[in-house]
Amino acid sequence: MKIEVLPQGAAYWVGDGFPVRNMFPSNHLEPSKISPFLMLDYAGPLLFEPANQPRGVDQHPHRGFETVTIAYQGSVAHRDSGGNAGVIHPGDVQWMTAASGVVHEEKHDPDFTARGGMFEMVQLWVNLPKAHKMSPPKYQALTAADIPNVAVGSKSTLRVIAGEYAGANGAASTFTPMGVFNLRLAAGDEMTLNLNPAFNTTLFLLDGDVTVDKQSVQGEAKLAVLPGGTASVQLTATADSKILVLSGEVIDEPVAQHGPFVMNTREELVQAFKDYQEGRMGRL
Ligand code: MN
Repeated sequence: MKIEVLPQGAAYWVGDGFPVRNMFPSNHLEPSKISPFLMLDYAGPLLFEPANQPRGVDQHPHRGFETVTIAYQGSVAHRDSGGNAGVIHPGDVQWMTAASGVVHEEKHDPDFTARGGMFEMVQLWVNLPKAHKMSPPKYQALTAADIPNVAVGSKSTLRVIAGEYAGANGAASTFTPMGVFNLRLAAGDEMTLNLNPAFNTTLFLLDGDVTVDKQSVQGEAKLAVLPGGTASVQLTATADSKILVLSGEVIDEPVAQHGPFVMNTREELVQAFKDYQEGRMGRL
């Protein structure tokens, strides 16, 4: 099996609260190999000292896709123009469908800000098909308890954020078929990861040391891109490994992206900027 192992791409801060390593697209991973996923930022892990004012990103818009925030350590408070607000704690996932347009703010939770601590998050952007880019926005606040746990290997767990694994249905509803799984593979454990061969699959290793088929993937922030048609892959961990499995059906449509908007044509991008400036994506 020919597995493409890729390092992180660009590293930068998003606002003053999210020290991210971008895993794609800035590492030149071919978009058609990762569709329906558009972008993955890995924030931290980083220790934040106690502070007075919550750090993060001030209000900004999105249109045409979904933002998925997965909390590992630390907590993020969110509020948006749809009137949704909440705190994403470790183990929780926020699945926000921007679709026709949302304006939101993403900040460290005030309690986390005051106490400080380790911060570690993933933000994943999931594309929407043309038919749903202008659908009404939607917000799924998935707590750790909502996300089914499947026992894998002899002492490891796979959490089904979206899609289906071994009969367990994911917590999130999605617009196109996909599987998003949070896998914690314990040192010394091995498993067969079963996949839908019609999906694109990439494994994001946050940290650890794992053999994927016969290919070693180790350290922090690595991608293992599996070849098309993969129905299963053997994983063997020699250290505790945190893996986010991204698997999904390709959205085979043109992608026109500028900043926080992901549409199909340039004209739709121009319209998105106009709609945002004229307040049609709402306000906080
Ligand atoms: Mn955002």
